[in-house]
Amino acid sequence: MPTQSIPTKKPISINNDPWEAYNDVEQYGDLTLSNIEFTTTNLCNMRCSHCAVGYTLQTKDPESLPMDLIYRRLDEIPTLKTISITGGEPMFSKKSIKHVVKPLLKYAYHRGIYVQMNSNLTLPQDRYLDIAEYIDVMHISHNWGTIDEFTSVGFGAMEKQPPLKAKLKLYEQMIDNASTLSDQGMFVSAETMLNQSTLPHLEKIHNEVVHDMKCRRHEIHPMYPADFASSLNVLPLKEMKRAIHYLLDIRDPETWMLFGTLPIYPCINDPQDQALLNRLRETENVTMRNDPDGRNRLNVNMFTGNVIVTDFGDENGTISNIKTDRLTDVFEQWLASPLAQALNCHCSKFNCLGPNVLVKNMYYPNTDFREKEREMHLMYNMD
Ligand code: SF4
Repeated sequence: MPTQSIPTKKPISINNDPWEAYNDVEQYGDLTLSNIEFTTTNLCNMRCSHCAVGYTLQTKDPESLPMDLIYRRLDEIPTLKTISITGGEPMFSKKSIKHVVKPLLKYAYHRGIYVQMNSNLTLPQDRYLDIAEYIDVMHISHNWGTIDEFTSVGFGAMEKQPPLKAKLKLYEQMIDNASTLSDQGMFVSAETMLNQSTLPHLEKIHNEVVHDMKCRRHEIHPMYPADFASSLNVLPLKEMKRAIHYLLDIRDPETWMLFGTLPIYPCINDPQDQALLNRLRETENVTMRNDPDGRNRLNVNMFTGNVIVTDFGDENGTISNIKTDRLTDVFEQWLASPLAQALNCHCSKFNCLGPNVLVKNMYYPNTDFREKEREMHLMYNMD
């Protein structure tokens, strides 16, 4: 580990979101690899129906790759700014915490790299307190409009169901952990998906996130029909926009609300879309984030070394392996691929990096965004 002084990090705020891919475009003039997401375990104490790895979770993790290889691949990325740690539940397996999670956290700490952990926050509090100093964002999914929703969907992919009492205890633990960690200064960010299940409960969920869990940020992401989420219902575009307006009406104005992967773009000729985009831009403590997948992020599996473009995994599968390839090379090859070329439009006037493949397929199957990009560049005199 390097012995030189540890770089300082600017605190995360609405003016400093290190996961925003547009930062790299501004800094380097192009899409740049700055975020690696590591899947550090396949184990979890829950089995959410909406979990990206819910159906691949196992009862025992295989051996992970040697950390020397991981450090080497990270050292090769000079532009690395953020690491995301995901699972399973990254804090579930003590073996994985000791041999994978903590070494990664320490590596990031010494390089001044921001770290997000994706956790369900249902485990005993001391596990989270133990790593608190290394975590910049503790990210939790909160899609529970009712306790019933938690006890059913939260274990939806589990064959042998735990007793109801045990499930309820986990819910209480999650709320208490979020609130205590927030009180102690951790940046806890809760994410809610917009779908048919959450739609009737958005106000209740938001209030719980803000007042009971004391989260510093509430993230809102539309749900797209990736395989893992196929049992939940996607919202039609019109209802989605109505839900966004509703959230802006009822939200706590003091809490940062981050909208990610919105299916609304400056180039779509719809006055209502443009009015909603303006409202989002002008509302205080509200930000929109470009989708990081494939724009500044690659996902690495700590056991196999396989690299995927996260949400594009379904479309594209594994694109490479870190046992043989540098991540910067993999990223360049991905950007040159026909799929990335077809999708990666860019309009500097709006800091917009276009839709991902799920958004395009779901809502804009017949729109040629590269053509839209040409029109926008002509209309607004962009380079
Ligand atoms: S970057 Fe793409 S999606 Fe965004 S405004 Fe331009 S053409 Fe439309």
